[in-house]
Amino acid sequence: MHEKLEITKASEEETTGVVLRIERGSVYDGDGFRTVVFLKGCPLRCLWCSTPESQSHGIEYVKGTTYGQVMSVEDVMKEVRKDSCCYFHSGGGLTLSGGEILAQPIFTRSLLKAAWEECVNTAIETTFFAPWKVVSSILPYVDTAFVDIKMFNNQLHKKYVGSNNKRILENLLKTNELEENFRLIVRVPVIPGINDAQEELEGIGEFCAKLTHLEHVQLLPYHRLGTETYKKLDREYQLADILPPSSEHMSQCRKIVRKHVEKVI
Ligand code: SF4
Repeated sequence: MHEKLEITKASEEETTGVVLRIERGSVYDGDGFRTVVFLKGCPLRCLWCSTPESQSHGIEYVKGTTYGQVMSVEDVMKEVRKDSCCYFHSGGGLTLSGGEILAQPIFTRSLLKAAWEECVNTAIETTFFAPWKVVSSILPYVDTAFVDIKMFNNQLHKKYVGSNNKRILENLLKTNELEENFRLIVRVPVIPGINDAQEELEGIGEFCAKLTHLEHVQLLPYHRLGTETYKKLDREYQLADILPPSSEHMSQCRKIVRKHVEKVI
């Protein structure tokens, strides 16, 4: 049995949250044509974060730009419904991304539930960095969960992500106890010189091999797409000297993880 977050049906549609932006037509955040709703707020501080404007929980005003707006579940669903014909033909749907979507647990759950009840395919992009009670309350309304493991070594995780990884790994293991039929895809951003050592990748591979809902592991090459936003926000980008990995290096990294997990892309 899941522990449920207490919320009545009547108040669900009126539940509000802080949305950073809504992007239509993504083909990278789940199956088919996706409407991606980016939520504000993240308790982590990955040094390579490409959406630093998503990290703070409230609405930010910087140099004439506003980052975030308050929206209700129904406001978001109105936007989602506009794309419903594209979902039908492509197998797409709604993807909730962030920030960390679990930083707004009631809003996230209400949105996923509203989409689920309208038979909209749902995907989430998360780190699972939240109490298990929160994670388990949303998974009944999720078709595909993309969960990041940024780093397996806890000391490195604290240094580069700003927090302990114990809760993330524990929550991932606890999904083994769930009967829900969701797909689990573990994503690993490969940051050269930071988390691409053989020992680190072996650790991630061995861990993922224990996950019963796992469909595959996806290694994502480091990129620097967020650097302009750091300038706009007057924040220092600390990994300016790191270059994206070559395709040969990515192949090598995938080969290491593939020793433990059959499907690695
Ligand atoms: S978890 Fe995602 S949103 Fe949060 S700091 Fe890391 S990359 Fe940025």
